Amino acid sequence: MQYVAIAIDGPAASGKSSVARRVAEHFGFLFVNSGAMYRSFTWWVLENQIDPANSAAVLELLGRSHFECALKDRSSVIRIDGRDVADALMHSEEVNGAVSSISAIPEVRRALVAEQQRFRSMGDLVMEGRDIGTVVIPDTPYKFYLDASAEVRERRRKAQGIDDDIRLRDLKDSSRDVAPLRTAEDAMRIDTSYLTLPQVADRVIQILHVEGVRRREPERPTMSWVYWLTYTLSKAFFRAAYGMEVHHAERAKVVGGAYFASNHASFLDPPLVGTALEEPIYYLARNTLFKPPLFTWLLPRLNTVPVDRDNAELSSLRISMQLVKEGKKMVVFPEGTRTPDGSLQPAQRGVGMLVAKTGVPVIPVRIFGSYEAYPRNRKLPRMDGKIHVVFGHPIYFSTEELATKGKTGQQAISTRVMDAIASLSLPDTSS
Ligand code: C5P
Repeated sequence: MQYVAIAIDGPAASGKSSVARRVAEHFGFLFVNSGAMYRSFTWWVLENQIDPANSAAVLELLGRSHFECALKDRSSVIRIDGRDVADALMHSEEVNGAVSSISAIPEVRRALVAEQQRFRSMGDLVMEGRDIGTVVIPDTPYKFYLDASAEVRERRRKAQGIDDDIRLRDLKDSSRDVAPLRTAEDAMRIDTSYLTLPQVADRVIQILHVEGVRRREPERPTMSWVYWLTYTLSKAFFRAAYGMEVHHAERAKVVGGAYFASNHASFLDPPLVGTALEEPIYYLARNTLFKPPLFTWLLPRLNTVPVDRDNAELSSLRISMQLVKEGKKMVVFPEGTRTPDGSLQPAQRGVGMLVAKTGVPVIPVRIFGSYEAYPRNRKLPRMDGKIHVVFGHPIYFSTEELATKGKTGQQAISTRVMDAIASLSLPDTSS
């Protein structure tokens, strides 16, 4: 899909970040702050006690650093070697003083521009920086250059209580050889000296409206006919046989990729979660389940991804992670297997691993009544009893939680998810 990309460039304290953020919010677009990437890497250089003027040492660090770009609350984040750089650190006086030297190094720019360009495939976006319209996304028709007098910009920085020699930074940024700060020929220039930032944002929004940019309504994923038919029949069955009731379905309306994590007591659980939702979701199932010819045909059409239990790191798991990264939703069972006695079991590490690797939110789900309807030890389900599906509030994991490496970190995430499932109770339906 061809996404809309809006470039906003300008010197330090021209209002780019505030304006870009507002414009992104207005249109529901992603917000990408490229300066934060140069700042994060600069912080990393200083943290490694490397002299920013020593480009050979900086390049050596660049070579062995791993960048990971992701989205958090629809804004860009960059992790370096798994670390998130806090806002306060990347805006320190030391970083302000060194960032322009670091960002003048061509190899650094090449690496970070490649990361910035990766965001283009993630959705409509507003990206701000110095060379966005000229180098990063030169093909976009939507380019803005914000400017303001040096006095006004210095005043803005002082008002923010930030020590920042913006004149020196601008001089370095505009005089460097590679991708210097300059106005793209086809950019709309706005002097923000005598405007408030909301006024500037309104002007940008107005211009974009005139040019035909619109908020994109979130696409409701459509069900294939096989999925729809199975979904409709299963839903009707659960309602007729068990008077299935869904509680707090509004909590399940999360934008983008997510895992639904449910307790597991019965074979009925995957279709119960699936039919409690309005949109198609994805499932994981043991690969042996795909053996019968009917299932070989049907399961992939029901969005089911086969997993080899004995080989958990297999490509199928990677596919499932790719799916949620693409914005799809998947149901998972933290306990790993069906409860033997109806009680909740401790969480396995698997869900923690999936969450840590994808960074997507988790919506806890608690199913009541599926054990009574169809427990592990029965050949066929009982056709009575009542089933409730209760959704919890989505859990957005902190970057620290996600960054905790290894088994302990993954187990901690799984346990948190399981605790959230356990805390869901049956709503009082007596009144
Ligand atoms: O936008 P911000 O002031 O946070 O950017 C910090 C520094 O990062 C700039 O002074 C510049 O040296 C560098 N930068 C860049 N190219 C960009 C964005 C920022 O060189 N696209």
